[in-house]
Amino acid sequence: MIGLDKIREAAEEISDVVHRTPVLTSSMLNAQTGNEVFLKGEHLQKTGSFKIRGASNKILKAVRGGARHVVAASSGNHGQAVAYIAGKSGVQSTIVVPEDASPAKVAAIEAYGGRVIRCGLTSAERIPEALRIAEETGGVFIPPYDDPDIIAGQGTAGMEILSQVPDCEAVVVPVGGGGLAAGIVCAVKQLKPDILVIGAEPETADDTKKSLEAGRRIAIGPTQTIADGLRTSIPGEMTFPILQNHLDRLVTVSEEDISEACRFLFQYAKQVVEPSGAVSVAALLSGRAGISGKKVAAVLSGGNVSAGGFAEMLKI
Ligand SMILES: *Cc1c(COP(=O)(O)O)cnc(C)c1O
Repeated sequence: MIGLDKIREAAEEISDVVHRTPVLTSSMLNAQTGNEVFLKGEHLQKTGSFKIRGASNKILKAVRGGARHVVAASSGNHGQAVAYIAGKSGVQSTIVVPEDASPAKVAAIEAYGGRVIRCGLTSAERIPEALRIAEETGGVFIPPYDDPDIIAGQGTAGMEILSQVPDCEAVVVPVGGGGLAAGIVCAVKQLKPDILVIGAEPETADDTKKSLEAGRRIAIGPTQTIADGLRTSIPGEMTFPILQNHLDRLVTVSEEDISEACRFLFQYAKQVVEPSGAVSVAALLSGRAGISGKKVAAVLSGGNVSAGGFAEMLKI
């Protein structure tokens, strides 16, 4: 567990740079899921995802400690968050992206002032390259999830949920490497021990489900899912034990459940949510979350999707 004191410190640290995101409701969603659902709008967060919470907690501390350069390996939201907060703090950032990174994502990183280096196609190639650059330049490597400051930063979203919906009985949260879920479970269980926390991941990228069943971290092969933020192949070393000990359950959703959730959120809640960010709602709408009659917070973790990609997904 990451202590509440660490999560409160993180909230203080990042309060000037992140939004306290709104909680949205949809009576159609309530009717269709049989719950009272509160959508935690991290798709409306600075840089378009919750990743800015952990990244800014880690980077602002490092900058105070004298860091002048930060390095990350990312193909998406983490890279944008690191480039943004580094730029705001007046330090250089280098983001190692895959050779096939989408031009839109590269452009976003560069617009925030990040230097982009292309390397390989997998995180197994990108991470050593980022570590090497950090070593060579005296920079600080910023991991996407497996770090106490990152987890504490993501946990601030959980603290906000309980202050915005004090009588909340359950939280549904997307799981990739597990930093968001670990942070939220630490925050909410310490503030309200009887709250349910349910993780959700794509059934085609079910490394956390397989690992929980096996009782140890299991690596899966290359994964294909429209939820590109959840394509991790193994849960984090630090995040996994937290999820193993404190998550109430983990459910999987199909690709169709995810695109249906994106369409639903667009049509009825008027929100543009990226596939990774809609997995929590997919778990509720498909019934796979397995809860009814409860006040439930569903984390909409991000909204970074190209117009063309989103339009494609809205077609049935
Ligand atoms: C990174 C990301 C996730 C997964 O977060 P983890 O901390 O890796 O579990 C979920 N949704 C979005 C939009 C993301 O960018």
